[in-house]
Amino acid sequence: MALIVQKFGGTSVSDAERIRAVADHVARTRRQGNDVVAVVSAMGNSTDDLLRLAGEVSSTAPPREIDMLLTAGERISMSLLCMALADVGIQAASFTGSQAGIITDTAHTRAKILDVRPDRLRAAIDAGIVPVVAGFQGVSTEKDITTLGRGGSDVTAVALAAALGADVCEIYTDVTGVFSADPRVVPSARRLSRISFEEMLEMAATGGRVLMLRSVEFARNHHVPLHVRSSFTWEPGTWVVEEEDSMEHAIVSAVTHDTSEAKVTVLGVPDQPGIAAKLFRALADRSVNVDMIVQNTSEHGTTDISFTVPRVDLATAVEVAESLRDDMKFTEVTSDASIARVSVIGAGMKSHPGVTATVFETLANEGINIEMISTSSIRISCVVDESQVEDAMRALHEAFELGG
Ligand code: ASP
Ligand code: MG
Repeated sequence: MALIVQKFGGTSVSDAERIRAVADHVARTRRQGNDVVAVVSAMGNSTDDLLRLAGEVSSTAPPREIDMLLTAGERISMSLLCMALADVGIQAASFTGSQAGIITDTAHTRAKILDVRPDRLRAAIDAGIVPVVAGFQGVSTEKDITTLGRGGSDVTAVALAAALGADVCEIYTDVTGVFSADPRVVPSARRLSRISFEEMLEMAATGGRVLMLRSVEFARNHHVPLHVRSSFTWEPGTWVVEEEDSMEHAIVSAVTHDTSEAKVTVLGVPDQPGIAAKLFRALADRSVNVDMIVQNTSEHGTTDISFTVPRVDLATAVEVAESLRDDMKFTEVTSDASIARVSVIGAGMKSHPGVTATVFETLANEGINIEMISTSSIRISCVVDESQVEDAMRALHEAFELGG
């Protein structure tokens, strides 16, 4: 008998029929002799709808009130799921994040979990009751209701799985697992049966949209195996596990892409100690998250610095750079919003030289110019023109023989 945390995303509980299908599945899992804790997201797009409504009544929308509003979405799905479970003869009880013991910091709309005190859930499980928990929410150390950032129900599920010592955290979604590339762009993409936490982290950070980054970090740090699968077909999906258990041992596992970033270049920067520090401190002070950074070799004592930022922060980043013009004595700031990043990810890269060469050759053969490069021990990312990113993905997927 296992303890299984089952998390159902917004599409999995989008209407009455879907909620009844989820209830059937929870009941089935329970009747197979397992203990189940269900975690639910808000129905369909209801979080977006609530945010839109907030925007219509207020241009200020205080974050504390946004949080109170948004948590209503998950309360609706949790209580409806409990009702559907009652109909199929399963005893269940709903719990808000606060009731479930999710304690967070005070950062409204993007709170971090500080502690999980699952006593009430534990008591319910011991009494043969299925706890159904509202995802994405907690209560702060100041006793205010908080949310964990968009997509945060994954974090709730993983945190509860860790705190309860669950055997697995199943993440139910509208795709059948994690793919070797986005199948809408690369038709030959195939579902991976296993992948390591490290690979999944790199995927989540570089555009693989299946799991929220923070939930994967949490799962890795607390050794919670994840099973990403479909609530539409209920077939086995992708296991995210420790590297030694991930077994497939392909050199490259996946190709991801991300079109959410933009590039800023500061030209003619004096090549002196402290200059980069000034620029990136100023960006940090405005909460602009810088991703890739490239500095050219200097010529005549000046250099160029390029970096990428989220597209939504491009105007701020340019403004921050411009504001340092007198101080840094650079010549010009340019920006490009139509870039894309394509990344090749695989734990096997660590022990196989030549992957970088293959990536560059493949892009060269397609006539695709590489604007920036960054790597980790298991990832190679190239910034290319946005118009060429899909060709780049298909070519790389093919070059590393990732197709089914
Ligand atoms: N309902 C929240 C959102 O849409 C949390 C989640 O779905 O995980 O972001
Ligand atoms: Mg959602």
